Amino acid sequence: MIVWINHVEPDVSRFVFLDRDGVLNRDSPHYIKSWDEFHFYPDALDALRILRERRVGVVVVSNQSALNRGLMGFDAFFELHRNMAAEIRRYGGDITAAFFCPHRPDEGCQCRKPAPGMLRAAARLYPLDPSQTFFVGDKVSDLDAARNAGCRPVLLRRDGISGPLPAHVPIYTTLLDAVEDLFPGTG
Ligand SMILES: [Zn+2]
Repeated sequence: MIVWINHVEPDVSRFVFLDRDGVLNRDSPHYIKSWDEFHFYPDALDALRILRERRVGVVVVSNQSALNRGLMGFDAFFELHRNMAAEIRRYGGDITAAFFCPHRPDEGCQCRKPAPGMLRAAARLYPLDPSQTFFVGDKVSDLDAARNAGCRPVLLRRDGISGPLPAHVPIYTTLLDAVEDLFPGTG
């Protein structure tokens, strides 16, 4: 597990877990292997700024098996991450921490979603109550990881809400919509 800590004692009142690819940026079936392949969803940058304004700590939780598949080097991975975090700050947002699983599925690790390892590690590090913490993801493995860690799953369907949908899970088409609904401002 790769753990990137930005704030040890963040000045926040609650937390949210966010998947990365498909939630913050456009995903690709060929993996996101470098900064030039990373393209933010514009609403995600707004959503991250609002989360900071509302004192919600953001913890990114992401499978990055391209690392151990040998498709992406660690230098490129960390360069992408540094640039992503800097761009988020430039837009007024912030990330408290990020957890990444570098493993391939066949390695049988404890961190690759839907395993709850990364969420549990975050819950040990920060004063958060999993049962009160949303995990916004775009895949079934995100929903399952949330359930396996005792968190509250939230589904992002950026291509629209259609087809078979999981029951009892809030569904949104943009991260901005999700944030406005899950963390409403005081007016
Ligand atoms: Zn792993």
